[in-house]
Amino acid sequence: MYWDKEIETIDRPALEALQHKRLKTTLQQARKSLHYDRIFKEVGMDPDAVKTVEDLEKLPMTTKEDLRDHWPYGFLAASRDDLVRMHSSSGTTGQTTIVFHTANDIDQWASIVARSMYMTGMRKSDVFQNMMTYGLFTGGLGFHYGAERIGALTIPAGAGNSKRQIQLMRDFETTTIHIIPSYALHLTHVFEELAVDPRRDTKLKRAFIGAEPHSEKMRKKLEDFYGFKSFNSYGLSEMCGPGVAFECPAQNGLHIWEDHFLVEMIDPQTLKPVPDGEEGELVLTTLVRDGMPILRYRTKDLTRIIPGPCECGRTHRRIERIKGRTDDMMIIKGVNIFPIQIERKLMGIPGVGNNFLIVLERVDFTDLMTVKVEVQREYFMGDLRQLEALRRRIVEELKSDILITPKVDLVEPDSLPVSEGKAKRVLDNRKD
Ligand code: AMP
Ligand code: ZN
Repeated sequence: MYWDKEIETIDRPALEALQHKRLKTTLQQARKSLHYDRIFKEVGMDPDAVKTVEDLEKLPMTTKEDLRDHWPYGFLAASRDDLVRMHSSSGTTGQTTIVFHTANDIDQWASIVARSMYMTGMRKSDVFQNMMTYGLFTGGLGFHYGAERIGALTIPAGAGNSKRQIQLMRDFETTTIHIIPSYALHLTHVFEELAVDPRRDTKLKRAFIGAEPHSEKMRKKLEDFYGFKSFNSYGLSEMCGPGVAFECPAQNGLHIWEDHFLVEMIDPQTLKPVPDGEEGELVLTTLVRDGMPILRYRTKDLTRIIPGPCECGRTHRRIERIKGRTDDMMIIKGVNIFPIQIERKLMGIPGVGNNFLIVLERVDFTDLMTVKVEVQREYFMGDLRQLEALRRRIVEELKSDILITPKVDLVEPDSLPVSEGKAKRVLDNRKD
């Protein structure tokens, strides 16, 4: 039932002692990076003198902006010769953050992914089809290494190519898949089109779904259609990728692996800690990473610690499914997108006016993005083919940057609402 019983059911005092020991090593390692060396000097902290985990609170929090400002090597704490891999967040070039891994980092990461999968009942006899993008994104290789660590036959199917995915599932009797929830939903239509019933015609038993927010309703819908049990998988590239927190068979919150990550929950406005049970922003510190340790990282993800023990016997605390984000990052079809990316593109296109609005909707559990763009009045007066050509160009330019194809509506100047103060760029009409 446990991949590593001793560590998964460790009592709190022993866990805290372990965290303290690992934190010390992490701080010493972090000091080797340009960024943290400077920070330690600024706040007058000597990593060797850190006595308790609470001492960490003297350090400022780390943000995505810090990572970008020190792109690409400012956070690197190991020699470049010791690096074996790099990954990035799922945004596009201008917005991504790069994370470096040593062989030990990859090994540690594989161990928590294996632990997470094993927790849900996956064994070496299972056939695992990984339907996530392989490449810089962590969802592909992260799960791949975890599954191989368990010893399961692993099919690196990658994302997309729906008919082939279904064929693979049937031919190789896939029992377990890893998939983005919005894609799992899209795939239901392909199953229907092919008249294949996953309950009858496949051996699917479980799915790991994650990388983007989704509701309990969505889980139910997927479980009903596919006949599998689905487990929420949470992670972020800055900490390693998937494997940070994962649902157990109780399907009531995600155990966050506290031997690998130190957890803080803060009020995003005051940055003060909030008690277990209350909603806040998750802040994480890596405890076993050498290549690029990150201290007090503001995930911008909103959740809460679920107080009390879990029926599965694991002592690592649970977080509730992610409620949303404290910044304006949108996650659409698993891709991280910031409104500023849209703005930058639009503003470079002749004919585009002064204002735009991104409208998000969820239709049949699928996220749709519409960008309403004001364009110069002339376009509405002359040949309407020009208007259509402009619309197409905007779609193409946006697609090249954000990787998904948005719907684009062109509107007359001054027709979109103008907000006082900070422009409101996103109208999020998605409900649960
Ligand atoms: P990336 O670094 O590109 O993998 O993106 C990480 C971000 O994806 C996290 O900070 C979350 O906002 C989001 N994310 C990952 N897994 C989940 C999940 N299971 N539920 C909700 N959001 C998630
Ligand atoms: Zn549990």
